[in-house]
Amino acid sequence: MGKTAEIIAIGSELLTPQRLDTNSLTITEQLNLLGVDVVGKHIIGDDRNLLTDAIRAAMNRSAIVILSGGLGPTEDDVTRDAAAAALGRKLVLSLEQESVLINRFRQINRPMAANNLRQAYVIEGAEVMPNPNGTAPGQFLFTDRGVLALLPGPPRELRPMLIDELIPRLRPVLPVQVIKVRTFRITGIGESDLDTLIAPVYTKYQNPATTVLSAPGDLFVHLRAVAPTEKEADELLREVGNPIAELVGAKIYSEDPEESLDAVVARLLRKSHATVATAESASGGLVAARLTDLGGSSSYFVAGYVTYTDQQKIEMLGVSPSLIQKNTAVSQPVAAAMAEGARKKSGATYAISVTGYAGPSGGTEYDPVGTVFIGLAGPEGTRVVRYRYGVGRDRVRALAVQHSLDLLRRTLLRIEN
Ligand code: ATP
Ligand code: MG
Repeated sequence: MGKTAEIIAIGSELLTPQRLDTNSLTITEQLNLLGVDVVGKHIIGDDRNLLTDAIRAAMNRSAIVILSGGLGPTEDDVTRDAAAAALGRKLVLSLEQESVLINRFRQINRPMAANNLRQAYVIEGAEVMPNPNGTAPGQFLFTDRGVLALLPGPPRELRPMLIDELIPRLRPVLPVQVIKVRTFRITGIGESDLDTLIAPVYTKYQNPATTVLSAPGDLFVHLRAVAPTEKEADELLREVGNPIAELVGAKIYSEDPEESLDAVVARLLRKSHATVATAESASGGLVAARLTDLGGSSSYFVAGYVTYTDQQKIEMLGVSPSLIQKNTAVSQPVAAAMAEGARKKSGATYAISVTGYAGPSGGTEYDPVGTVFIGLAGPEGTRVVRYRYGVGRDRVRALAVQHSLDLLRRTLLRIEN
């Protein structure tokens, strides 16, 4: 079956400035999710002949025709009649629908007016779609060229019927859709900065659908494309994914949704036959823990020094007392000396250092709470980066771990800054 649809909203009130047709938007949204394009939306007043013509013309053009409204019990509700006429079929009384109506009126303790019985008439060959939120049932039928559906006008009745009854009937008659996803795992940029950067690209597309998820120092961009073939889905992912990749650049550390930052670092260390040690103060061993998360980490992880006091920075890492005295333990030179000391003591190729004020107390005028120095010593020399993370002890420590792993990743990939 083809994939184009037309929607006809019925009701003279929708032609006045007072009432807006919102049902067609609801219907379009749901059809688009199925990969169906809406090629026409029409509004027709409560006129049986005009409506008959409109339905007939729509069915000639499009495989899916969806009608909204005009299913009420009164004389001006002409949708059932017009649809039957357009199809050249009869309306038949559904005994089942009749008793549904009788029961419903009994439940609300009201007498049923004779014209309510109009709502129990069904187009020959149509399937009834129950309406738990009102009296007018929906109808669904196969025609020579496709599908015709009748939905009630009140939005609070239409929406649930659309989602619970109509969409499940359409899905199996539509061409198979392939779903493909592309994921970017990103670090070194905040969520709002990332969104500002890439929103101009992805907001232009509904398909693929883009979502951004975030944990401290760890962002995910998910693209989800739906298309008739794998090739077309891949093409959509390229169309949106490639410009995103271009904009975010080396801050993307993996396109494998399962590959965490420490797994990337492990892969790169193995590849270059390098090893790593850690010298941690503020992060209390969290970096070492991450570097030993994976099985087989002994092939690249050598040692972790947790040196919380100045004294232990001196004793375990060989940092000079005067350096600490002159600069304080949270400083660029001490971070460098910690990393260099750990590298020397352990014999590892690289050593990471972390020193900072995780908070809530501590900090100085120049280096307030949230300031963290991350160092990396290696064969090419020593780098230190200062971060200002703001408040939140857990957050500061989590960010420091991500960024120290990322500094090693960038170094191993020879990415500058
Ligand atoms: P009822 O049994 O309630 O008469 P119906 O199927 O005949 O159901 P209508 O009489 O066409 O529905 O519309 C009922 C209510 O739903 C009205 O308030 C109308 O404005 C609203 N409505 C109808 N069509 C739409 C639409 N396309 N968009 C938004 N609201 C609509
Ligand atoms: Mg009505």
